[in-house]
Amino acid sequence: MNFEHLSLEPRILAGVQEAGYTTPTPIQQQAIPLVLQNRDVLGLAQTGTGKTAAFMLPILNRLLTGRLGQVRALIIAPTRELAEQIHQTAVTLGKKTRIRSVAIYGGVSKERQVWALRRGAEIVVACPGRLLDHLGDGSIDLSHVEVLVLDEADRMMDMGFLPDIRRILKQVPAQRQTLFFSATMPDEIRTLANEILVDPATVQVGMIAPVETVSHALYPITEGLKSRLLFALLPQIETQRVLVFTRTKRRARNLARDLEAQGYNVAALQGNMAQNRRLEAINGFRNGAYDILVATDIAARGIDVSEISHVINFDMPDTVDAYTHRIGRTGRAERSGEAFTFMLPADEAIVRDIERLLSTRIDRRQLPGFDYAGFVPNVQPASNPAGRDSGQARRAQVQSGHHREHGGNGQQVSRENGARRPAQPVSQPRAGGAAPAPRRRSRRPRYSPPAG
Ligand code: AMP
Repeated sequence: MNFEHLSLEPRILAGVQEAGYTTPTPIQQQAIPLVLQNRDVLGLAQTGTGKTAAFMLPILNRLLTGRLGQVRALIIAPTRELAEQIHQTAVTLGKKTRIRSVAIYGGVSKERQVWALRRGAEIVVACPGRLLDHLGDGSIDLSHVEVLVLDEADRMMDMGFLPDIRRILKQVPAQRQTLFFSATMPDEIRTLANEILVDPATVQVGMIAPVETVSHALYPITEGLKSRLLFALLPQIETQRVLVFTRTKRRARNLARDLEAQGYNVAALQGNMAQNRRLEAINGFRNGAYDILVATDIAARGIDVSEISHVINFDMPDTVDAYTHRIGRTGRAERSGEAFTFMLPADEAIVRDIERLLSTRIDRRQLPGFDYAGFVPNVQPASNPAGRDSGQARRAQVQSGHHREHGGNGQQVSRENGARRPAQPVSQPRAGGAAPAPRRRSRRPRYSPPAG
């Protein structure tokens, strides 16, 4: 199927071309016809599936007819980065139309947003807090909203936004189309969805399991050796952009500083930074000024950098859901990516949960030539999460040859214990060491510790 089969207007198809999309992703194939039919939609999809265009394209198509100059589509997102990314998608896909989008989020001047709203916009992409501010000031009118989108609803719940959402809902016409996206469906989210959706069609893509274009590996290690392991690992992998996750803001700051000292172009991204610093870090990462971004979970929400080749979990995520969200940053759309997770002996339980979710055992690796200082990495699986014969899993692990097959997108992949990986491993550590890696800096230092 291609986009021409989706009954979109030529001006919208021109936007698709502008964005460089050639084939609709599965969620786009499923959701676009339903949204065009004016159906409410419950979308169970995570970031990386193409869900933004899945709702934005039919919304733009709808807005081509009818009045301009009033807010007719409201999209609510949990973080500024995600709101900004959705807004940019609206701008790109709507380039050949007269439809205008405004992004509304905190941390930046309110006046500019008021000014943009006064000039007239048909689409508003907003975070709940700042939107309520504008509603309180009377600077935004939601009485003409025809389509409401709640994006990453589960994350909004995690961030405590549900009361705000309910307040906003009171100001939006009851007669409307509602599109509700969530990667997971905890009870509270299901209740909210049942309350606000009318006879919804459900579309489900890659529910819960991390995008299958990502292959996963664990590096058993001790806390004290983590930094050294990262420094040893980076030169041995061929990477484009590397997103490194830490548990706390302080650890993100410190690790970015240490990587900078190693000569990498690196930025930190964590919640204490002013919005202009956050945007500078994200844009620098996107345009290649930084090869490595060290981030905390919340700060990294909504980052959309399609060149991310590796996600490295320097610290194990707290929940399986957080793992899913982190991993969703690589292997976006049709690209392949790798996810490396540093694993402490105490992380066995969460690893078992992640393996259950992936329905496979994750490869445990030992970095060749690395001085483990007496620590013996346990590269044997602790359990049998996927319900497979563990002897078979172990055998598969020690066999070096993979058998090859073709992935759905025509890309050649090989399967190793059921996990999908590129036929030419983009980042299999090589004993020789000297390999393309995140470029070390030859220019002035780029990282300066963020305030706070
Ligand atoms: P999303 O899940 O909306 O965050 O999108 C993930 C990434 O996929 C973004 O970088 C999009 O620009 C990209 N993308 C969305 N739709 C397509 C498509 N049909 N073909 C190729 N890339 C796409």
